[in-house]
Amino acid sequence: MKKLRFGLIVAALVFAACDKIEVVALEPQSEQQALMTRTSISDDGHTYEVVTVGKTDLVLMDGTTYLLSDDIILSPGQVEFLRQEGLPQETISATRAAVSTKFVEYWPNGTIYYTIANNFLQPERVNNTIEHYHDNTGIRFVPRTNQRNYIEFVNVSGTTSWSYIGMIGEKQQIQISAGGTMGTVLHEVGHALGMYHEHERTDRNM
Ligand SMILES: [Zn+2]
Repeated sequence: MKKLRFGLIVAALVFAACDKIEVVALEPQSEQQALMTRTSISDDGHTYEVVTVGKTDLVLMDGTTYLLSDDIILSPGQVEFLRQEGLPQETISATRAAVSTKFVEYWPNGTIYYTIANNFLQPERVNNTIEHYHDNTGIRFVPRTNQRNYIEFVNVSGTTSWSYIGMIGEKQQIQISAGGTMGTVLHEVGHALGMYHEHERTDRNM
């Protein structure tokens, strides 16, 4: 997934003294303040800002969407969890995906209901991903009829694809860019199953 780059925005004061103008850069007062002032605008027009929620640094996209890592969208409930509890340690260090059920909810019975948007480009990327999960795991994907909690696969502009982590409740989207491959879909579905990047290294078999 695309790495975000942050340029350091340094507040500047402009002094007019006599006939000359002097620009004075203010250095950040602490590491945390430095983090909170990092911001950048991506090539596809999104604004990214690093904000500290509780003790966790998150990326705030367009002032509205909180991201954990590059491509994981957090629900409002998860952001509030981080504000109060912080990121559960086991999400970082565990060798198995033993994450807190308070922060990440798993899909009951390993069954994921899903729909694919009608205008989704190359839906075989999704179908091949589902086949791959069915061949290699006990996870089962079932086309949604009227289930309350489900995934909708949609396309998104730009070069980054996105997913929530775990089951959020009601409809949650997995957003796949036009250039995303089946590998991209596999990766994003992994997040929706509750996996973090530590569990998705390219040297691991999923
Ligand atoms: Zn990811």
